[in-house]
Amino acid sequence: MKNSTFEEVKLLLKSPKRIIIVTHYNPDGDAIGSSLGLNQYLNMKGHKSNIIVPNDYPKFLKWICGASEIINYEINSQNAIQLINNSEIIFTLDFNALHRAGMMKNLLEKNESFKIMIDHHEMPESYAHYKYSDKEISSTSEMIYNFIERMDDIKILNKSICTALYTGMMTDTASFRYPKVTAKTHQIISKFHEIGVNHSEIHDKVYSNIGMNKIKILGIALKNLKLIQQHNIAYTTLTQKNLDENNFKKGDTEGLVNYGLSINKVKMSAIFIENKLEGIIKISFRSRGKLDVNKFARKYFNGGGHKNAAGGKSELTLDECVKRFRKVVEDYIF
Ligand code: 5GP
Ligand code: MN
Repeated sequence: MKNSTFEEVKLLLKSPKRIIIVTHYNPDGDAIGSSLGLNQYLNMKGHKSNIIVPNDYPKFLKWICGASEIINYEINSQNAIQLINNSEIIFTLDFNALHRAGMMKNLLEKNESFKIMIDHHEMPESYAHYKYSDKEISSTSEMIYNFIERMDDIKILNKSICTALYTGMMTDTASFRYPKVTAKTHQIISKFHEIGVNHSEIHDKVYSNIGMNKIKILGIALKNLKLIQQHNIAYTTLTQKNLDENNFKKGDTEGLVNYGLSINKVKMSAIFIENKLEGIIKISFRSRGKLDVNKFARKYFNGGGHKNAAGGKSELTLDECVKRFRKVVEDYIF
């Protein structure tokens, strides 16, 4: 976004507005962290701001300040529709294509509120009036910090806002491990420390607070792990039965795809998860270096994301889907 555009947004936000913040379907730590950070900031500035998510999100994020007020469209669509129709500004966070808002797509499409996209995925659509889109930044939560900085409001940041943003930055970078983490990322974290953010407590609340069932699901995913030796590709699968037998809850499969990528020489990892309710296989891809899984997911599996972390879906059966993957991945690599 150009300097002049930030100035225009600043002007727009000079007087109190009715604002809605929307995230993508199956919101993750970055979607929730960036939304809760921005929402608290906007309310502090005198706006009337609410967050609407297309569907539920993992329990390990529900401790963040303000989470209990998030409106779930799947459960409370009447209220959500009313708020959206009555809004003046809609921020769309952590996604850049309206279909990523799931069932909310049509509602957002025909809505005429002023739309502001803040996002770090590849290939943004052009639905927004203002677009702050930068694929080089490691999380949307970091972009919210930049946004607040551009509004000249770093001085009003408090522990609660910074805790939400820290959670998003931490989860989207695998605890500050990914290549897109920069000096600026760490400068922001340094600022968070000054404000009193407790990084260790946040890490524990997100990562060391899991049920035994998640460990069991991890066990199955590891047992099912396969290696395509000649191409250094690892993949694994989880059936609906695996999930049902282990009391699966949202978030229990998050991060499993990373185990494959930690194997010596492996440059791409995938996980295929059967979802009988939606009639799809949900797929996650991770890669290292030049291998672009965003393009791969777009081309073959109706998905997208980032160069080294993407997702997709398929309506094939689990076995057929894996078979297809083994075939197309060969074509793609050569
Ligand atoms: P995950 O594998 O953790 O679900 O997603 C990895 C990345 O890819 C995230 O940034 C996510 O937003 C994106 N992503 C996941 N599934 C899809 C999809 O079906 N379509 C698109 N465009 N992006 C996806
Ligand atoms: Mn993100």
